Amino acid sequence: MSTKKFTIGCPSCGVTQEVELHESINVQSNPELKQALLENRLNRVTCSDCEANFRIDMPLLYSDPEHELMVHWIPETKQVSCDQIIEDFDRSLEEINQILPKDITPPTVFLSNGTLSSTGIKKLFLWTIPSIFAFIR
Ligand SMILES: [Zn+2]
Repeated sequence: MSTKKFTIGCPSCGVTQEVELHESINVQSNPELKQALLENRLNRVTCSDCEANFRIDMPLLYSDPEHELMVHWIPETKQVSCDQIIEDFDRSLEEINQILPKDITPPTVFLSNGTLSSTGIKKLFLWTIPSIFAFIR
């Protein structure tokens, strides 16, 4: 699990505040974070001034070692398009394959967009906005 501090501006009144948000979660060691994700409570902020409650959409690494599942969720934003995400992803995948020792089998990785057929993941990210998911197994 890793969190990081960010300075966030309230979309309602514009007041800025420093908040701690999750960049990655391990649902085996922190099952309560999976619950928070399912209930749309993860990375939510309540404005210290006007009390508006909003979700911060930022990349999240979801890891479930018990089920050998890792999902890198990347939301599409005004600044970053899906095409840009795929391009960046392809580039990092190439880099990983280049530095990986020859005797190690590279992980199986596939990309999917927001319309997922895998029910479990769909349920997890039900509230999602247009996104790219990278599955790493
Ligand atoms: Zn506010």
